[in-house]
Amino acid sequence: MFQKILVANRGEIALRVIRACRDLGVEVAVVYSEADRGAPYLELADQAVCVGPPVAAESYLKIPRLIAAAEKVGAQAIHPGYGFLSENSRFAEQCRESGIEFIGPPVAAMDKLGNKDKAKAVAKAAKVPTVPGSDGLVTSDDDAKRFAKAAGYPVLVKAAAGGGGRGMRVARDEAALVPALTQARAEAEAAFKDGGVFIEKYLDRPRHVEVQLLGDRHGNVVHLFERDCSLQRRHQKLVEESPSPHLPAKVRDRMCDAAVRLAKQAGYYSAGTCEFLVDRDDNFYFIEVNARIQVEHPVTELVTGVDLIREQIRVAAGEKLRFSQRDIVHRGCAIEVRINAEDPAHDFRPSPGTVTVWRPPGGPGVRLDSHVCAGYRVPPNYDSMVAKLIVHQPTRAEALAVMRRALREFKVEGIHTTIPIHRRIFDTPAFVDGKVDTTFIERELMPPKG
Ligand code: ADP
Repeated sequence: MFQKILVANRGEIALRVIRACRDLGVEVAVVYSEADRGAPYLELADQAVCVGPPVAAESYLKIPRLIAAAEKVGAQAIHPGYGFLSENSRFAEQCRESGIEFIGPPVAAMDKLGNKDKAKAVAKAAKVPTVPGSDGLVTSDDDAKRFAKAAGYPVLVKAAAGGGGRGMRVARDEAALVPALTQARAEAEAAFKDGGVFIEKYLDRPRHVEVQLLGDRHGNVVHLFERDCSLQRRHQKLVEESPSPHLPAKVRDRMCDAAVRLAKQAGYYSAGTCEFLVDRDDNFYFIEVNARIQVEHPVTELVTGVDLIREQIRVAAGEKLRFSQRDIVHRGCAIEVRINAEDPAHDFRPSPGTVTVWRPPGGPGVRLDSHVCAGYRVPPNYDSMVAKLIVHQPTRAEALAVMRRALREFKVEGIHTTIPIHRRIFDTPAFVDGKVDTTFIERELMPPKG
């Protein structure tokens, strides 16, 4: 096992990794930018190292500074968390070339799965169904038109390097296709320095269901069942749960098997997620792999009892998985809500600032993953998530009740948060019945104004 790990991230996931290191008896250091200087969670690490100014490109994304920080504190491994450099194979490679283990998948697997178009090719090779569309990138408008016509409108133009819902545009007909291509390319170029796009059929009101994977360096890969992340706003997840309501057991089994097949095909190890869309006839289609730990991983931890971050660290240290597929049992229902510092009354604009009141929920069945406390200043520079509230109960009905109770207890002042929206969601009959799809929020709960 490693003696010391450096966490190359911030906020709740940095704290989550610090906790896992403590539980394993491993020393832990954490980096921070000047915007996060003095944040209370930093005190929970053994050491904290400043890696630069608030702008992420000069701190949390600056590879040489992160590697220098690891060398300075004598860490043998870096945990990248999610976001930032977590899916950057160049970072993984440079860590390993510097003799520092990157706690994540092998570089070759990251390269194979890092771009959505390449990942789809891997899926096809593993006989995993994919959304119909262009095979690979579209390079000319004529190509695009041909593919779109073959798949049938509406289609989705997607950035190969995309993430976080960026670089995606729907085209309802041929007239809308070229503008969609131009916009998606420009957005992808600006966000990812890679303007490559491809086309997919835009599925009608699909559900988003993903499979959690865990593999070791000895060829073992297991799945830890699914999470349903259909409740989204602008293609960004708001609520995640397991099991997926109304998903037939046979479909779930086939999906989980498909995810394991795909991971093996790519020579994958560490934690990862295989994302699928499910249509109204319960057909599933692979969309992408997230080659990292995900925001919603606690849902799976609660229903399986497996600590995914600890396992990720063990696997990175070369240990074999300590369980086989048979040992992984799914128990009860877990639901997570993402609480962001955003103002729902003003189109969810970011609401940074100082938290004056922070009264977190507690009691049976409640887990809160958050780096925030009263007096904490939410910096304007990064992702606006301030907490993940997760509940676990024997049944979904009980989980809904506990979540309602927890959301009622949760009091935050000084900043706006998405807590009021979650209270509304958990009182909405379609959600209570587990009958939502990825367009539900915009269609039913918060139709766009105008
Ligand atoms: P990102 O990496 O930006 O999160 P994804 O490929 O994971 O993008 O897709 C995010 C969300 O966009 C999905 O959960 C789904 O809501 C929607 N989406 C993606 N592909 C399609 C598709 N072909 N048809 C309909 N919706 C889609």
